[in-house]
Amino acid sequence: PGSTTLEFDNAAYRGSISLNTGLFIDGKWVDPVEPDMIDIINPASGKKIAAVSLGSSKDVDIAVKAAQKAYKTTWGLKCPGSQRGKLLTRLADLMERDIDQFTALESLNGGKPFAVAKGVDLAGAISTIRYFGGWADKIHGKTIESNETKLAYTRHEPYGVVGQIIPWNFPILMLSWKAGPALATGNCIVLKPSEMTPLSALKFAELVAEAGFPPGVVNIVNGYGKTVGQAISEHMHISKVAFTGSTLVGRKILEAAARSNLKVVTLELGGKSPTVIFDDCNLDQTLKWAMQAMYLNMGQSCVAGSRMFVQEGIYPEFMEKFTAMVKAFGEATGDPFAPTTMHGPQVSQVQFDRIMSYIASGKESGATVHIGGDRHGTEGYFIQPTIFTDCTPDMKIVKEEIFGPVVAVMKFKTEEEVIEAANATDYGLSACVFSENVGRALRVAHAFESGSVFVNSAQLIECSIPFGGYKASGIGREQGEYALETYTQVKAVHVNTGLII
Ligand code: NAD
Repeated sequence: PGSTTLEFDNAAYRGSISLNTGLFIDGKWVDPVEPDMIDIINPASGKKIAAVSLGSSKDVDIAVKAAQKAYKTTWGLKCPGSQRGKLLTRLADLMERDIDQFTALESLNGGKPFAVAKGVDLAGAISTIRYFGGWADKIHGKTIESNETKLAYTRHEPYGVVGQIIPWNFPILMLSWKAGPALATGNCIVLKPSEMTPLSALKFAELVAEAGFPPGVVNIVNGYGKTVGQAISEHMHISKVAFTGSTLVGRKILEAAARSNLKVVTLELGGKSPTVIFDDCNLDQTLKWAMQAMYLNMGQSCVAGSRMFVQEGIYPEFMEKFTAMVKAFGEATGDPFAPTTMHGPQVSQVQFDRIMSYIASGKESGATVHIGGDRHGTEGYFIQPTIFTDCTPDMKIVKEEIFGPVVAVMKFKTEEEVIEAANATDYGLSACVFSENVGRALRVAHAFESGSVFVNSAQLIECSIPFGGYKASGIGREQGEYALETYTQVKAVHVNTGLII
């Protein structure tokens, strides 16, 4: 199997990183059964960084067999929770040791500003693995009182082999959200990173081996969605699939599960999250949060606050200050490794084109480009942070997930009106409300049809707090204690302690 060495020489990171570029199956680096490669692109330049192996359904079969064997012999119920926890904690420590290498890979492959990637993606991924390591020996069922001659208890057993399909917007972070709870509960995994951003997953696999996980517990099969992703979702010996990505693909995974073995499916899908700003908010604080809600990670965030509702009394002052902030943020666009950069490129040419077509649609449908609305520079996939005003609910830019740095701003009058408008979407992932009136803030928080609500804040997702969608934004919860439920199945054991007379 191949390998590559990436050289970095910039203010944020100096050094070289060697990576295996094959598939990681049964604790070893292997070539795909049918050799194939994909070029990995630096989105800041549009140029090739490396080439990595692409697997197929045949490699998924091999990985599933390795995972089944590990589950029956060295993992699952054969391995005490304390030992699984120890390995996960060790893995978190190794990730922390190599945090700068991971960050450099995420910045190079995903165009993320280095400091943000380190503080958000890597800090989050490491704490997630460590957090779930802490749960590994605290997973247990209940004893249920029935009658005098019966003892009943439950066991929270792992599924066995689980499939995990990861997107490109937060590669190592989404990997940790999937791997952490799956491994803590004793499952073995067959994981597919996004074909566009596999580098940090390759590095992760190396640390899995170094930490001492038994072979076959973690298998990483890089490849396309239509081949490897589909093979995972229709595999007869994968008992659960966890997916993060588009709603379109989420539907395909559910269909594949229904057609094959009725595997359990959890989905984290898109969003069109509202940010609701009342006249009585703390304006300076709200401006900072609203910026972050929308523009973090170049708007490529499932919780992006891409519909902003501003109450009419504060609208002129808010818009004036918000515009100035977004302009300053846009001026900090550039090389992800430069210390001053806040805004990097979109992940790919395809995403760039998609976002530009949404911007064109906004213009055509009569919305006003308040700021931005164009590409930045001539190289790479950079797009200016963009604000649309004069938006109406029927516009595509208000209804559909753009997954780029484009916000649609709307003015509102009353609390009732804004609740209805905020909920008028098929999605329900996240929502923000800004008000210093605690009664109003909580009334609105409770009225939102969404899996997460942030009051006077945004985007602060944490490993100990459940995350997931209402409506078309998904099924199931990741993170926190709730995530353990989606990686275990409950067995009820009935014990007769009496005699039939
Ligand atoms: P996608 O859903 O196609 O890709 C996500 C993952 O699913 C990738 O690993 C991909 O290889 C895999 N996949 C694709 N087709 C598959 C199939 N048929 N079966 C199984 N797996 C499959 O997303 P995309 O095309 O890269 O992005 C399109 C849009 O999706 C974005 O613009 C955005 O709106 C949304 N998206 C959302 C998230 C999120 O965090 N919720 C993440 C990425 C993309």
